[in-house]
Amino acid sequence: MRRTYMDANATTPLLPEVIEAMRPYWMEHFGNASSIHLHGQHAHRAVDQARETMAEFFNCHAAEVVFNSGGTEGDNTAIFGLLHPGDHFITTSIEHSAVLQAAHRLARDGVETTFVAPSPSGLIDPNDIRRAIRPETRLISVMLANNETGVLQPVEEIGSIARTASTFFHIDAVQGAGKVDFDVRRFGCHLLSISAHKMHGPKGVGAMFVRRGTPIEPLLVGGSHERRRRAGTENVPGIVGLAKAAELAMHSLQDGTIDRLAALRDRLEAGVLQIPGTGVNGALLTDCHPGQAQLSAPEGQCENSPGQAQRSPGKDADIDLAPRRGAANSFVYPESTNPIPRVANTTNIWFDQLEGEALVIALDLKGVAVSGGSACHSGATEPSHVLMAMGLDKTRARASLRFSLLKTATDADVDHVLQVIAEAVENLRELSPVAAGTLG
Ligand code: PLP
Repeated sequence: MRRTYMDANATTPLLPEVIEAMRPYWMEHFGNASSIHLHGQHAHRAVDQARETMAEFFNCHAAEVVFNSGGTEGDNTAIFGLLHPGDHFITTSIEHSAVLQAAHRLARDGVETTFVAPSPSGLIDPNDIRRAIRPETRLISVMLANNETGVLQPVEEIGSIARTASTFFHIDAVQGAGKVDFDVRRFGCHLLSISAHKMHGPKGVGAMFVRRGTPIEPLLVGGSHERRRRAGTENVPGIVGLAKAAELAMHSLQDGTIDRLAALRDRLEAGVLQIPGTGVNGALLTDCHPGQAQLSAPEGQCENSPGQAQRSPGKDADIDLAPRRGAANSFVYPESTNPIPRVANTTNIWFDQLEGEALVIALDLKGVAVSGGSACHSGATEPSHVLMAMGLDKTRARASLRFSLLKTATDADVDHVLQVIAEAVENLRELSPVAAGTLG
């Protein structure tokens, strides 16, 4: 059976160039980068070179790059490394659990957190961050791209708010890395975290930008690795793989790969939206779902069924947002009028009258790997906290799927998904207790 992987935001496979770059560091050059003999020198040189590459990737000095185990460690380091009892912390309710759980743990130690909510389209309003600032606010942490919707947050504006307020600013850039241009100076952040396995690099390795002079306490203590900012023998093959993935990502941002990916995602999205009773979370139509008054569309008008073409003029009335009619039951947005910036590879789509998890399983049986907008906690499927924060009700949040394309995705992958999904949805709707009205 043909298999199509559309869960790149969960993890990605290594590119061949990445594994080739790593290969010597498992065996021939296995040395400890801290050893002074030749074996150690080989390893040390590889780490130094990788640091230079990452400095180019972040646009910072090599001394501001700290290698670590990935996104969770980076997020934890920023939060536990800067906040003390009595401090105030600002983050958002759509962050990854690596940020949210760290904030919850700090509550026990007397650090109060303000969780800023997004708009129904998944965007954080920088003014909400500004309003949350108090004299004792020490750190703001906002993600670059949301892992579930792909929505890009206005980090530059938030960076300038942080600068004015003299607070530290951390960006969880795990889902933006390799998908959007990086520049920590432009972002105005003190700290930024990335993870290799989300950008076709190896698992269990990542890096942080730590602006010179940022008084961060290390999470791990021991040896003097990473200028005493992260103890532990360097994962040399992993670090080499991360740097190779970053180098390839920098090329991809220049050579049209990301534009090609966006076109594939858009074709996939347009195709899926031809199924009645569907819509995108974190894009134009999201603002219209029932119960969300923000953009004054009468209830039901934004659903993707015949006769629903027009979004009511709201706060964006100066932009021509009227979608062009595509095939029956679908909307085609004129290029560059979609006001919600998203990473190129992600779309999050709701399907009325079915359980998202059932659709994930049905698609898997047809060879398509996608992910539900839900996270499994202690055996119970909870609706996605991100979609709930955007105002979706539980039923719709549970009926949402994330499609996230690999950098290597092809037209054939999109064709495969579009070939199987309509029938899978139809079958499930016939069987679904949601459709029969027996589930709330
Ligand atoms: N932050 C975001 C936005 C993520 O999507 C993830 C992983 O899904 C993480 C942090 C955690 O990264 P890692 O898997 O490297 O620990």
